[in-house]
Amino acid sequence: MGAGVAGLAAARALGAAGRDVAVLEAQDRVGGRLLSHPVGDRGLDLGATWFWSNEPRIQALIAELGLGTHAQHLEGDALYQDTRGVQRLQGNPIDGPAGRVTAGMQAVATAMGDTLPAGVVRLGHAVERIEVTKDGIRVYAARLEAAGGESVRVAVDAGAVVLALPPALATHAITFEPALPEALARLAAVTPVWMGAMTKAVIQYARPFWRATGLAGAAISHVGPLREIHDMSGPDGEPAALFGFVPPRRPGAPTPTADAILRQLETLFGPEAADPRDVHVVDWRDYEYTAPPGADGLQNYATYGHPLYRTPTLEGRLHWASTETSTEVPGHIEGALAAGARAAAAVLAG
Ligand SMILES: Cc1cc2nc3c(=O)[nH]c(=O)nc-3n(C[C@H](O)[C@H](O)[C@H](O)COP(=O)(O)OP(=O)(O)OC[C@H]3O[C@@H](n4cnc5c(N)ncnc54)[C@H](O)[C@@H]3O)c2cc1C
Repeated sequence: MGAGVAGLAAARALGAAGRDVAVLEAQDRVGGRLLSHPVGDRGLDLGATWFWSNEPRIQALIAELGLGTHAQHLEGDALYQDTRGVQRLQGNPIDGPAGRVTAGMQAVATAMGDTLPAGVVRLGHAVERIEVTKDGIRVYAARLEAAGGESVRVAVDAGAVVLALPPALATHAITFEPALPEALARLAAVTPVWMGAMTKAVIQYARPFWRATGLAGAAISHVGPLREIHDMSGPDGEPAALFGFVPPRRPGAPTPTADAILRQLETLFGPEAADPRDVHVVDWRDYEYTAPPGADGLQNYATYGHPLYRTPTLEGRLHWASTETSTEVPGHIEGALAAGARAAAAVLAG
């Protein structure tokens, strides 16, 4: 369950091995933390943006799916902002080489979903309960009949279940019968959701005006609200955009306003920065299918890839697969792909 990258990777691997698969997905779209705002046939990323050259799974997948890519824009000078003002640095020590998917990173999940037979991915199915039965495992989900309407309860019987969502969210939203082993339930409840407490702002402009004055569009700020800023433009600067992160703050801190973000960008990049085409401020704490309440208080990253996530439970029928459970680059898309592959292999071996 969960049609993020990890769940889709597990479903593809199980389907390829001849198993019958269903992916129950709570939202009305695939991708989870891959979320892109389309601009023509290109995309601005409100969730994950980059992949890196030392990540073979995501690179191979992008090539297999035939998605166009471009390099992160690096050229120009970066800026540094603190309480004394703004300094222009020589060159750009903030950005490193990384790849981008030109249609937006969500296209990876959409294209993965398109490789599965029709009917495998079931959108709008929020899993609420998982129960071991006499000869298998039963998953109960609430299926929304119409936007804003009633939901009906559906049950799906299976031989095994892959939980491809952040562990802290799984233990918050799903009842298990019998209960999960205590150590596993405790571990899952304190495992941070990668970027689940992050706010990302994406600001689209008519043109990448900062490049004309030799700026890279990159900045580090100790003043805020954005701590770290990067160029998010497409190839040849189209669409033109900057993006920035508001780092996790005091739990429960309010989301910065678009106005406050634009004022900061104006101070950094000049008057044109105050005149955007579009502003998206996405606080991932608000996404009920990414982060449970209080996720901004979870800090113990040493829980990532814990051996308990590789130990099937509930009579060997329950497996974990989100990026947080990966031993390889946990947190990244690469980690989600590795976790999905590992969970599928465990199901096949079971
Ligand atoms: C702002 C931001 C920036 C990031 N930047 C990068 C980056 O540049 N590079 C990188 O590699 N990674 C980045 N990441 C991390 C990357 O997005 C994740 O590693 C990856 O998307 C995780 O995939 P997943 O399948 O493990 O989990 P998710 O994407 O969270 O998928 C879980 C799925 O389960 C579904 N679900 C939840 N609850 C239920 C339920 N009860 N029933 C059914 N379905 C349910 C969700 O809707 C979702 O579709 C970023 C993440 C964020 C938020």
